[in-house]
Amino acid sequence: MTSLQLDDVTRAFGATTAVEGVSLDVRDGEFFTLVGPSGCGKTTTLRLIAGFEQPDSGDVRFGGDSVAGVPPEDRDVGIVFQSYALFPHMSVAENVAYGLRFRDPPAGQTTDERVAELLELVDLAGFEDRDPGELSGGQQQRVALARALAPEPDVLLLDEPMSALDARLRERLRVQVKEIQSELDITTVYVTHDQSEALAISDRVAVLNAGRVEQVGEPEEVYREPASRFVAEFVGDNNVFGGESPVETEGCSVRVGKTEFDVGERTDGRTTVCVRPESLRFDCEQNRFAVRVESVEFLGDAYRAHCEWDGREVLVKTRDEPPAGEAVLGFEPEDATLL
Ligand code: ATP
Repeated sequence: MTSLQLDDVTRAFGATTAVEGVSLDVRDGEFFTLVGPSGCGKTTTLRLIAGFEQPDSGDVRFGGDSVAGVPPEDRDVGIVFQSYALFPHMSVAENVAYGLRFRDPPAGQTTDERVAELLELVDLAGFEDRDPGELSGGQQQRVALARALAPEPDVLLLDEPMSALDARLRERLRVQVKEIQSELDITTVYVTHDQSEALAISDRVAVLNAGRVEQVGEPEEVYREPASRFVAEFVGDNNVFGGESPVETEGCSVRVGKTEFDVGERTDGRTTVCVRPESLRFDCEQNRFAVRVESVEFLGDAYRAHCEWDGREVLVKTRDEPPAGEAVLGFEPEDATLL
């Protein structure tokens, strides 16, 4: 086990700064996720940790020690990529054993024993002699995971390992990956552009935007207390209302257009109000505003209504079927987040 730090790391490719002044502190045994839209620098950050890229400035440290100049094969990392990257001409067992090419199996174990143990761990015992082509996508990714874990790395790096799988399989595999990670207690950095996956699987997440860290926090924290408009809009659905001018009514209200909202805390100059769709209610007596319900989707466990409020789009998620046409929405002051 080891902790992992990035200290003010920058990496540019020509005119593109892929990673800019990124500092992260990943704890021993933590499941840490880098999440953000395409091109925000997730893969580059992972490659800097793995040693495939070198920082232009800043430092990467494992367990407190700089790994500057240490080549990837000496960094004690296991990596799983988006593509399964298994060798098609090798059996499942040979693919897993390939993970031990630079390193002996853990003390007291033969390679065969280690391979068997890993296949057991990823729930593929008995698949030793199969060819990768005979496995499903999810099974292939579990073989790739077994191969990455075979040499007992200190750090596990996962780069969008589920993005090639269909939604249902992805959800199943992410539970398995999380269970395996907890069982081994291995420091893990996971890359995904899928914010719901990031929230579901992580101990903490770092939200990246254009090469920079917008926020680091536990999933609940990032969801409930977004630190910026970018995080508020990227992580989960949100309604972000720009308060055009703050109105000092006991210091706790924000005016959006002609409507004044009580936001339950001092605004201190902040003029943007975020309210999650599930916090908006048609039967709320506070912070009421008139909308037009444009369309309603049935999600199975809830309804999602697309509403219009003075030219703004408003999303509402409710358990009860929303009314049609003209309606009034409201929210509790404590459910507002101010930016
Ligand atoms: P995605 O989710 O699409 O994989 P990402 O968040 O992983 O994106 P990166 O792959 O780290 O993003 O890329 C960050 C930026 O750096 C992008 O603008 C990308 O085009 C650029 N970039 C990455 N690697 C290189 C390279 N080897 N040469 C030139 N530009 C690169």
